[in-house]
Amino acid sequence: MKKSYLKAHKALNGFEAYLKKMTQSLIGYPTNLAYDYRPLLPFFQYSLNNLGDPFHDCGFKIHSRSFEKKVLDFFAKLYQIPKDKFWGYVCSGGTEGNLYGLFLARELYPKGHLIFSQASHYSIHKAARILKLPHTIIPTDEHGEMNYDHLKHIIQSLGHTPLIFNLNIGTTMHGAIDKLDTVVQLMKDLKIKKFYIHCDAALSGMIVPFTNKAHYLSFKQPIHSIAVSGHKFIGSPIPCGVVLTHKYLVEKIANNIDYIKSLDTTITGSRSGLTPMILWYAILTHGLSGFKQQAHQCLEQADYLYQQLKVHQIPCWKEAASNTVLFKPPHPRIADRWQLATSGDWAHVIVMQHVTKPKIDQFMQDIIKSKKV
Ligand SMILES: *Cc1c(COP(=O)(O)O)cnc(C)c1O
Repeated sequence: MKKSYLKAHKALNGFEAYLKKMTQSLIGYPTNLAYDYRPLLPFFQYSLNNLGDPFHDCGFKIHSRSFEKKVLDFFAKLYQIPKDKFWGYVCSGGTEGNLYGLFLARELYPKGHLIFSQASHYSIHKAARILKLPHTIIPTDEHGEMNYDHLKHIIQSLGHTPLIFNLNIGTTMHGAIDKLDTVVQLMKDLKIKKFYIHCDAALSGMIVPFTNKAHYLSFKQPIHSIAVSGHKFIGSPIPCGVVLTHKYLVEKIANNIDYIKSLDTTITGSRSGLTPMILWYAILTHGLSGFKQQAHQCLEQADYLYQQLKVHQIPCWKEAASNTVLFKPPHPRIADRWQLATSGDWAHVIVMQHVTKPKIDQFMQDIIKSKKV
């Protein structure tokens, strides 16, 4: 073998060993690591590219649109929007999905005012900057939800300005869910007709539909778009996401491009053809019932961690329908070892499928040991 290849393989082997080790102790970020997509390896030999609109064929034939459309059908069913009424695509992640939702909103309401909470993900702040959307940030209550009284006050002060909402369906730090019902009721009470609701459901978009009826995330509500990450709950070695919206909204912004013989309806031109296959494979093999079971398993494991922390008198916090467990940050060595995300006074574990009880026990032992030193 050529020397340069040997050198490359050696570096790869070393890196793989490192990743294996680091993967053992990842519990602080919402990335499901329990998957096996090796049946898809042969497709790494093809230059798959889903450039353009998923629903319009394209001059470039090496694409996986048929898989992508099946993925979108799954999400359309999950969020209750009829097959002939929705549009969407598999994008690069929650961030692109959020940018897309807010882009559509701004195209619909060029003079719109964006409203989101203090606990919104940084991708929302960024989208507001990119799109130059005037915005107001609403403080949160002790649960990490939007303060609805403050919200009402802000809306009243905005007069007849069209409103664009980003609602958090699971905040990054607390897993808190902004109440869609409350915001919708507010629109009715204040007789506001021009509004757009985008739901940032990066992680909890795959948990909420299976668990909590009160927060039910559905296009039967007057919402306009939903963004979900693919690499979070479903799990994927390549970051990805899904954005879903109403077809009629996208028809307003579509541009026909000769060169690719497709419609330029997405944010990026070229798009991964592998990530739709990854999501398709997960959906086909787990099915709705499999995901439902996983969501319940994550919540159960999260309850277990919460109880363990309480038993050992470590100040902790957990919302009912969330797999995020917050607690007083442990020794920095432990936070580093377990890749915990910390913010202000709190650290958190996001209890994903691979954060099983034995793993939680291991983590607790580490914490207890460090308290004794
Ligand atoms: C992770 C996350 C995002 C961003 O998603 P990416 O897939 O990392 O781009 C957006 N919003 C929330 C609430 C998140 O947790």
